[in-house]
Amino acid sequence: MTRADVPAPGGVQAFRGTLLHFPREAAHGAYEAAAEYVDDGMLLVRDGRIEGCGAAADIAPTLGPGVRIVDLRGRWLVPGFIDTHVHSAQLDVIASSGEQLLNWLERYTFPAERRFADPGHAQEASEFFLRELLRNGTTTAVVFPTVHKASVEALFEAARRRRMRLVAGKILMDRNCPDFLRDTPADGDHDSRDLIERWHEHDRLHYAVTPRFAPTSSHEQMTLAGRLLDDYPRLYVQSHVAENRDEVRWAAQLFPWARSYLDVYDHYGLLRPRAVYAHCIHLDPADRDRFAASGAAMAFCPTSNLFLGSGLFDRDASRRAGAHVTFGSDVAGGTSFSLLRTMHEGYKVLQLAGQTMSAAEALYYATRGAARALLLDDRIGSFSPGCEADFVVLDPASTPLLARRWALAASWVERLFALMILGDDRAVAQTYIVGERAHDRDASAPDGGP
Ligand SMILES: [Zn+2]
Repeated sequence: MTRADVPAPGGVQAFRGTLLHFPREAAHGAYEAAAEYVDDGMLLVRDGRIEGCGAAADIAPTLGPGVRIVDLRGRWLVPGFIDTHVHSAQLDVIASSGEQLLNWLERYTFPAERRFADPGHAQEASEFFLRELLRNGTTTAVVFPTVHKASVEALFEAARRRRMRLVAGKILMDRNCPDFLRDTPADGDHDSRDLIERWHEHDRLHYAVTPRFAPTSSHEQMTLAGRLLDDYPRLYVQSHVAENRDEVRWAAQLFPWARSYLDVYDHYGLLRPRAVYAHCIHLDPADRDRFAASGAAMAFCPTSNLFLGSGLFDRDASRRAGAHVTFGSDVAGGTSFSLLRTMHEGYKVLQLAGQTMSAAEALYYATRGAARALLLDDRIGSFSPGCEADFVVLDPASTPLLARRWALAASWVERLFALMILGDDRAVAQTYIVGERAHDRDASAPDGGP
């Protein structure tokens, strides 16, 4: 896909407000230094792309007479959030209680995913799902639909209409699952190829080869999944690894030849750049070193890990090894679409392990860090010139308590921390996709989107 393929509204727009983003990659431990914060800033957008940003006092006098200025003073503009692990077909089982991973899949998730065989249901749920992402300031996501081709078609079609950058693929699952969700190696391969031909790198869409997790794919299916990556350029891979101790034991029984659960994916060529693995909790040092060397991304999913009692992600060990760390909401194991809430719970998970995460670090993982991990940092994740103008307008007065704490904060670092701990979807005043407003919290339409 070329840059010219991105549809965008014409003309120049200038957005005035407080700007915060990462114009460069951040070294671990140096997140605040890598950030650019402009208290009274201006973001220039031309034809849906970032033209530049800086102090309003410098940019405003240079604007031509035809430029539309959107006054957002008192609010913060940050790049759109990137959720690297979320399930579009699990909306209806969010907040289902009482199980850990494997039973939770059987009891709640699989029956919910069954309904996506119906294209009408897939379409309705995909629309709701994308509205929910936008309501929470998420502009790009890496998404698991279901095993059904219709679930992927519906999601891509809905994202295409909203012009969202999205990564998704049909789940591959040919064993250890109910008959109603089981494909075969041949059908999974055929459907994947058809979807890749029709959707991969069309508009802002990317295809991900999507084995649910190693226990539900046979040797033959995993082999074919690896072959897809050889046959098409720039495909993504997404799966789950080392989420839950019972799951890790199960994987060891099913793949006795593998050194570890992660090694199963590596064996089939699925551990590589543009691969995203959710959870990555129960890994050993050799796994983390191999993970980092592969260029794959870890999706830290704290609300899910707490909700399902899966375990605590080790950020220090992962970053020390050099792995990319990103955030996943993992709805519906996760309990919120909000990446602010996800950052907040991530902070608490790391506190339990004696690890501290600054708000700047969390914002980096949710924006530029994720874009970098997905090899999309030339397109999304920051306000660098040429990037697509996906951004969020955050309202520090969204609740009385946040407004009160905000007023007492002495620096942007403190304010960002307050936003991370006290903010949620209510703090997302607007979400812009390629320079156009795609969600407006205060608009009369209840869903704020198409
Ligand atoms: Zn998941």
